[in-house]
Amino acid sequence: FTFEELNLLPELLKGLYVEMKYEKPSKIQAISLPMILNPPYLDLIAQAHNGSGKTACFTLGMLSRIDPKLKAPQAICICPTRELAIQNLEVLRKMGKYSGITSECEIHTGKKQTIRPPITSQIVIGTPGTIGHRIRANKLSLSYLKILVLDEADHMLAEDGFKADSVHIMDKIRCVNPQCQVLFFSATFNVTVKEFAAKIVKGNHNQLF
Ligand code: AMP
Repeated sequence: FTFEELNLLPELLKGLYVEMKYEKPSKIQAISLPMILNPPYLDLIAQAHNGSGKTACFTLGMLSRIDPKLKAPQAICICPTRELAIQNLEVLRKMGKYSGITSECEIHTGKKQTIRPPITSQIVIGTPGTIGHRIRANKLSLSYLKILVLDEADHMLAEDGFKADSVHIMDKIRCVNPQCQVLFFSATFNVTVKEFAAKIVKGNHNQLF
């Protein structure tokens, strides 16, 4: 089937066709996008390898849920590395070029941290450490959050401290905003990843293996 049938906003369709030059959804996109984009916006656990087209699944999920009038963080994407965060931001900006949606990367640059104002971008992409730090410093409000993405969750577990940060971020989100939709992507699903996923998604969710 086609991207039109997903009822995407015209500006997002234009991004897909003109900027990304995608013609039709890949298999994982065709299966997951109807679940991601439609009420009741259930959480999703998906096994997805690089090259499957998973990035567009969660990128369209985030872009579709943003209220353009609300200048506050409404979507967060957590990635295990800076490189992946930057790469995901590039895809998001390209796909969302005609949407007017604002986005930024929150990664540790190694430079001395200066005092920074609260984040007003509508979509925030970053590593668990930096995102967690911003939340704890009250620089990243979770009050308007509609969707949280965990990309390459198996790699997240391999990083010291990232698992704890991710679970902590989730606990905070569930406390402030229990309805927030969670999209959990991982290439592999051993017992550790499954337990981690179970901690993070709501009881009623979709699974895609
Ligand atoms: P990903 O698995 O998200 O890293 O995507 C792998 C590659 O497939 C990237 O180069 C994407 O730009 C490309 N891709 C993703 N979805 C589509 C699609 N529907 N049509 C054509 N190429 C795609």
